[in-house]
Amino acid sequence: MPKQIVIAEQHRIAAVFQGDQIQELIVATGTHQVGDIYVGTVENVLPGIDAAFVNIGDSERNGFMHVTDLGPLRLKRAAGSITELVAPQQKVLVQIMKEPTGNKGPRLTGNVTLPGRYLVLMPYGKGVILSRRIQNEQERNRLRALAILLKPPGMGLLIRTEAEDVPEEAIIEDLESLQKQWETVQQEAVTRRPPELLNRDDDFIQRVLRDVYSGDVNRIVTDSHTGLKRVKQHLMNWNAGRLPSGVLIANHRDRVPLLEFFRVNAAIREAIQPRVDLPSGGYIIIEPTEALIVIDVNSGSFTRSATARETVLWTNCEAAEEIARQLRLRNVAGVIIVDFIDMDARRDQLQVLETFNRALRSDKSRPQISQLSELGLVELTRKRQGQNLYELFGRPCPTCSGLGHLVHLPGESATVDVPATESGRESASFGNRAHPSLKENLSEDLEPHSDLQELDLLNHPNYQESKGGRGNRRRRRRDAPPLSRSNGRNGDNARTAPTPTPTPAPVPDPVP
Ligand SMILES: [Zn+2]
Repeated sequence: MPKQIVIAEQHRIAAVFQGDQIQELIVATGTHQVGDIYVGTVENVLPGIDAAFVNIGDSERNGFMHVTDLGPLRLKRAAGSITELVAPQQKVLVQIMKEPTGNKGPRLTGNVTLPGRYLVLMPYGKGVILSRRIQNEQERNRLRALAILLKPPGMGLLIRTEAEDVPEEAIIEDLESLQKQWETVQQEAVTRRPPELLNRDDDFIQRVLRDVYSGDVNRIVTDSHTGLKRVKQHLMNWNAGRLPSGVLIANHRDRVPLLEFFRVNAAIREAIQPRVDLPSGGYIIIEPTEALIVIDVNSGSFTRSATARETVLWTNCEAAEEIARQLRLRNVAGVIIVDFIDMDARRDQLQVLETFNRALRSDKSRPQISQLSELGLVELTRKRQGQNLYELFGRPCPTCSGLGHLVHLPGESATVDVPATESGRESASFGNRAHPSLKENLSEDLEPHSDLQELDLLNHPNYQESKGGRGNRRRRRRDAPPLSRSNGRNGDNARTAPTPTPTPAPVPDPVP
């Protein structure tokens, strides 16, 4: 299915759509970003945790560097304790591997790499690495041979999936620009005084296109005329001077801002909430905790299938696909536990796992299903890349501190913990102003219409659990423009497009 890319450069947010659903968000805000290269100073070395803390210019948080990430910064070759490998006040060239979270500083590495459109230059790496996603054996051979010829001595080269079927000239040009970039970084590393930022992907448009543009993109929308020109320029540079055919590039000139028009902000707001409705009436609840992400699948008020077994299988398959999309959209990482609805038949379990595996395959962060536990829980892990949506756009609710419950003790006034500033949204019932915080964070304000109170309550997981189906009211919003809805798959071109007909459920045939 063709993809569209919407780039709001002004806000440094881009969204990748497939049909009318957002598949992925690219957000580049914050002072430290993955890939930034700094010259810094080692502040202290802690043998207890095998790590060093490096000052890269943030007075409150030093960068964290584990002994395994020192790379070329090691002062001697032999293995040893970190106190022998780096020294306080040592000047170091480092790159951010993970953005800071909470009060943790960014995680750093000495193994600096420079990503291009088709290649990643690894100045301290070795050999040639080919993306596993390039599968054609002949093409793998061509790229490997080319990379061996081109590879600068003493460095490593990674061939990205994007290099598949790309002419040599374009790949050579990409490498030359990366080498130039590396030379500049090296010169500056010598002359500049730490701490200082030396290199950053500051062309947001270039970064977005580099990371998500592919042959199946048929439309790119920018928020400025210069942005549009730069999109064209980059695409031409990567395509031997010509614009690729079949892609429409446009500058959004509507009075309604880009992120509103394409409902990106609305999608972000929804993706911070625990509940996601499935097309056929089931729903999932996604709960991030300190240690892991817990996802619960519920059948809701689904009644269209003939037998309970088919209902469960169908809901679980829908959930599997939606969970794969939500993991990418929310960009959550670490250990993820999914509690699918119980299924007795092995064959059904297999089918759900197959569906899940297939849906996870398009995720660049390579989620891996690690096991199906005895209790029927599916465990998987997903690699961390950048900050998740909660870190980027969420703030803990000051009223309940993220608990999802307001304390209502006997003898106390029901509204005692409601901020006074929230006037004008009157209601007599308790708890309806629970989550003012999430909304302030996004530019799109909710209109003060009658659904507001319910929406507020819907942020609370316990409400959703207890009221069950009532929350479904949110599910079908028919007023959105095309290329817009993040959740409802009820558009004409919806993938599975289940319609409420009395025909037997389209549960795929079991394997004979
Ligand atoms: Zn709350």
